Amino acid sequence: MGYVKGLKCRECGRQYEKEPIHVCEFCFGPLEVDYDYDAIKENISIEKILGRDANMWRYKELMPLDDDDSYIGRNVGYTPLVHSRNLARELGVKELYIKNDAVCYPTLSFKDRVVAVAISKAVEFGYKVIACASTGNLANSVAANSARAGLNSYIFIPHDLEQGKVLGTLIYGTNLVAIKGSYDEVNRLCSEIADKYDWAFVNINIRPFYAEGSKTYGYEIFEQLGWKLPKHVITPMAGGSLICKIKKAADEFNMLGFVDDPTPKIYGAQATGCCPIVNAFKNGSDLIVPVKPDTIAKSLAIGNPADGYYAAKTIKDTGGYAEDVSDTEIIDAMKLLARTEGIFTETAGGVTVAVTKKLIESGRIPKDESIVICITGNGLKTQEALTKSLRIEDVIDAKLSEFDSLYRSKE
Ligand SMILES: *Cc1c(COP(=O)(O)O)cnc(C)c1O
Ligand SMILES: [Zn+2]
Repeated sequence: MGYVKGLKCRECGRQYEKEPIHVCEFCFGPLEVDYDYDAIKENISIEKILGRDANMWRYKELMPLDDDDSYIGRNVGYTPLVHSRNLARELGVKELYIKNDAVCYPTLSFKDRVVAVAISKAVEFGYKVIACASTGNLANSVAANSARAGLNSYIFIPHDLEQGKVLGTLIYGTNLVAIKGSYDEVNRLCSEIADKYDWAFVNINIRPFYAEGSKTYGYEIFEQLGWKLPKHVITPMAGGSLICKIKKAADEFNMLGFVDDPTPKIYGAQATGCCPIVNAFKNGSDLIVPVKPDTIAKSLAIGNPADGYYAAKTIKDTGGYAEDVSDTEIIDAMKLLARTEGIFTETAGGVTVAVTKKLIESGRIPKDESIVICITGNGLKTQEALTKSLRIEDVIDAKLSEFDSLYRSKE
């Protein structure tokens, strides 16, 4: 038995039953899961959490399922929080951590968290087909987790995604449909399909439930810091959902008494080639002006972000900042993270590290306070971004003498 009362409009507060819906009929505001926090408070404790397996379901009272023991994706989450001393030294800061979802199970991105919740909820609703509109990582995760759950899936992507994302979807035997257009066109088509076909579109009709999965990324950071909130968190933004849920996770942990710290300052990172949320923040505007994406950070290439307004608001309310970086800065930052911490992240991670560097250099993030960088995806999936700048320099015959002279030339 779960703790969800229903859904609630973020704008007008109108309440709804637990249903696969995502917009308010009256004001068109987005719907959010409405929990009975008093009941949660009575039933959850740090001791209980610590006694459970190391995966995202250790916080199951704070997840939006009715049957909290029948969830799908049992091994998802509890990725490392890496104390990053080498990168800290390079950036000139005192205390730096990487939350590394590049190694999230099973498909190597934080999307496994949201998908685990969405598919579990879709099964509770009785759906037989899982679907999504994706920039790549969501496709991988929906395909894999649907396969494991024995459910049919339909996945819609822009036609020009990286090979790793495409093959990493097809392998699971899903129905993958490439659309000749940008993600925003894929998403618009999927809204029409969702109206017509009775499918669980994880990021459309199931979106309020799906989005809650991102909170576990935050919970884990705070638990792994020893039940403490960091001072600064830098987060990549696509649709703008994850960044909002990291704040929600901090607020909930404060409310439950698991931590007793000020809300972290939360910073939003985008690529210059697609930064509608950064633009709105910097212009001090409530309006997200859609853009046409042009960047190697394809997983973040959403020109008309669904939660853009709330993402900008989260940044403003916490006292953070938003910044964007060029494709060259993204590649340099991917190399920097790999060289210093041994972590191979995808282009989205390059965006986050590059933005962190920029914010530290400009003095926006102070050097003597705790900082967490959100690494959300794996570099093996976006190899195209590196093929121009990385290649083997040394090719020799299988002869000791050849290696000896190569070695001499390097010393
Ligand atoms: C989807 C995605 C994000 C951003 O997620 P939103 O919640 O849509 O802002 C960040 N990083 C990676 C690697 C992603 O795939
Ligand atoms: Zn409303």
